[in-house]
Amino acid sequence: MEINLISDTVTKPTPEMLHQMFHAKVGDDVFKQDPTVNEFEAIVANMFGMEAALFFPSGTMANQTAIKLHTNPGDQIICDKWSHIHLYESGGASANSGVNFNLLDGNRGMINAEQVKNGINDPEFYHTPFSKLVSIENTTNKGGGACYDIEELQKIKQVCVENNLKYHLDGARLWNALIAKKQHPKQFGSLFDTISVCFSKGLGAPVGSVLVADAATIKRAIRIRKIFGGNMRQSGYLAAAGIYALQNNINRLEDDHRRAKELGKKLVECSWVLSVAPVETNIIVFSVQSHIEDNLVIEKLKQKGIAISLLAKGSLRMVTHLDYKEVMHTYVLETLEKMEF
Ligand SMILES: *Cc1c(COP(=O)(O)O)cnc(C)c1O
Repeated sequence: MEINLISDTVTKPTPEMLHQMFHAKVGDDVFKQDPTVNEFEAIVANMFGMEAALFFPSGTMANQTAIKLHTNPGDQIICDKWSHIHLYESGGASANSGVNFNLLDGNRGMINAEQVKNGINDPEFYHTPFSKLVSIENTTNKGGGACYDIEELQKIKQVCVENNLKYHLDGARLWNALIAKKQHPKQFGSLFDTISVCFSKGLGAPVGSVLVADAATIKRAIRIRKIFGGNMRQSGYLAAAGIYALQNNINRLEDDHRRAKELGKKLVECSWVLSVAPVETNIIVFSVQSHIEDNLVIEKLKQKGIAISLLAKGSLRMVTHLDYKEVMHTYVLETLEKMEF
């Protein structure tokens, strides 16, 4: 049995999803003539109660487009120090938009309104960068799948309004937050200027992210996507997977969350484990006793057919997903219990 807990991006389309993809009606999306892409974008925009949406080949490109939409070179983005847009987009914010970051010291990747307020530069003081954009990640990636209370996001919004800042949500795993916190997409649509959501993570589609915003913003985003080389032609085949994922794969995230919690609980009971971060969604972050090498843990599990990853030194990660089934789960729980160092 090959079990991959490295990321929720490792899933492969199911026969049902492939069937819907094969039968998609397609056209040239660069001329906005792909009916399936148009339908997909309309569905996602409606879900969030926002005017328009745009399909992207990746979450990175959707985030980078949002950054370019909201900033000018020299401007500053306020976000958590662990943000994907800072750590894992290959320096794109500075390369593409010439911006810099004010990195806040948040809690498991989450920042609060007070920190944001204190992080804003005085616009009259021309020596410091212009604070232009606040970017939130929900759920947090490096923060181990933590999710925000909507009240804190509302307070941050208030700070943004008072200080004329744009407000972006990197919602690559927003679906997990919606399920874990029993929230509705419209609660997020009413707060943010732009939201990016991913279909190739928890939702099991092979490719794609969507950016949602008002119609004027999306009109500008199309030009930026073109500049970034993200225009696609008969992308309805991919959008069809997204539509299938929305219809079938959101509520089942509960299974991923339950299994992740069970894995976390099992790890807490293992003598070789030092600590396990709180498990809120589908990501488990843990550390092992100091005399045990991280790589030894990875290697031992690999020999048992279980792949996990190193998040950072002293920090191991497992991610549950659509292709991690109950039989595999039972086996992993047993294997963890039996492991000795
Ligand atoms: C994965 C991820 C992205 C980027 O998505 P890609 O499709 O891999 O480019 C952005 N933000 C967060 C928080 C992510 O976890």
